[in-house]
Amino acid sequence: PDVVNKIAAGEIIVAPVHALKELIENSVDAGSTSLEVVVKDGGLKLLQITDNGHGIDREDLPILCERFTTSKLKAFEDLTSIGTYGFRGEALASISHIAHLTVTTKTKDSNVAYKAHYDSGHLVPAKPGQSADPKPTAGRQGTQITVEDLFYNVPTRRRAFRSASEEYNKILDVVGRYAVHCDGVAFSCKKSGESSTTIATHSKSSTVDRIRQIYNSAVANELIEFRSSDEKYGFRAQGWTTNANYHVKKTTLLLFINHRSVDSTNIRKAIEQTYSTFLPRGGHPFIYLSLEIEPSRVDVNVHPTKREVNFLNEDEVIEKICADIRTKLANVDT
Ligand code: ADP
Ligand code: MG
Repeated sequence: PDVVNKIAAGEIIVAPVHALKELIENSVDAGSTSLEVVVKDGGLKLLQITDNGHGIDREDLPILCERFTTSKLKAFEDLTSIGTYGFRGEALASISHIAHLTVTTKTKDSNVAYKAHYDSGHLVPAKPGQSADPKPTAGRQGTQITVEDLFYNVPTRRRAFRSASEEYNKILDVVGRYAVHCDGVAFSCKKSGESSTTIATHSKSSTVDRIRQIYNSAVANELIEFRSSDEKYGFRAQGWTTNANYHVKKTTLLLFINHRSVDSTNIRKAIEQTYSTFLPRGGHPFIYLSLEIEPSRVDVNVHPTKREVNFLNEDEVIEKICADIRTKLANVDT
């Protein structure tokens, strides 16, 4: 069964960035306002994320990495609401099958932090011969997850990585997206052993300021805000997009559906189409779009490596959003 679990985990997490994305989402779910990422060798040697969220109860630590038996699952009754989280209690379990996983966590009600090590779903001792029980340690409220030697036991996968900087760029892309999306959360990302950060946002900066910081000021200066909603189709959308006076070489779409960074070929196409009438000579937009849809309307079978999302009345929802964007674009002086 461990071999099966290992193979399954290797399919769910194909690159370090997939593990990191799940860890970011967990930290955001925990109500964190600060989230620090440290990376070594493109995430293959080390992925570490430190948050100041609500932490994990001591009692939950033994089952933390068992599939489908997480504390969050206890809190959610119906499967549709779990579905919006995409992954259903599999992230930490999967990671523990293909990496060395260490969790240090402290809740508000606890006097101490606890440190726990995991292998293949279970608590393991830090060193052979020691107890596997979580060890009390000093620490601040929040959780630190350390993932070391990802794919150490999946040599074929490990060998498939050509460059650490390529993997690091994918990590920066995802951290940047969440940094733009998560209002009130400070993000940082850096390489292990380096003092300077590659990404560092403030918890009080505005969305446009965060875009300015992570992308560039030329883009940020040309953004217009848009909103769209329709009760009938159970959605609400909001975002920022470049106006028709300005364009970038390639469409950049920062798409969030129910606060998860996802992709949607249909939305991408519709947006390209919308801009083509405004940019007849072929420029492309930069667009950040946050779409909230009633969970029961969203397809729950989302594969973590793809994150292609489908939802009910997709055509109508997309058309409404694009119509509202079109109106905004038309109202900006050219
Ligand atoms: P899921 O998020 O789908 O429940 P995960 O394996 O990603 O499954 O996480 C398991 C559980 O561990 C979460 O439901 C949550 O209760 C807890 N958890 C994970 N990471 C954190 C964190 N950074 N802060 C607080 N709790 C966390
Ligand atoms: Mg999760």
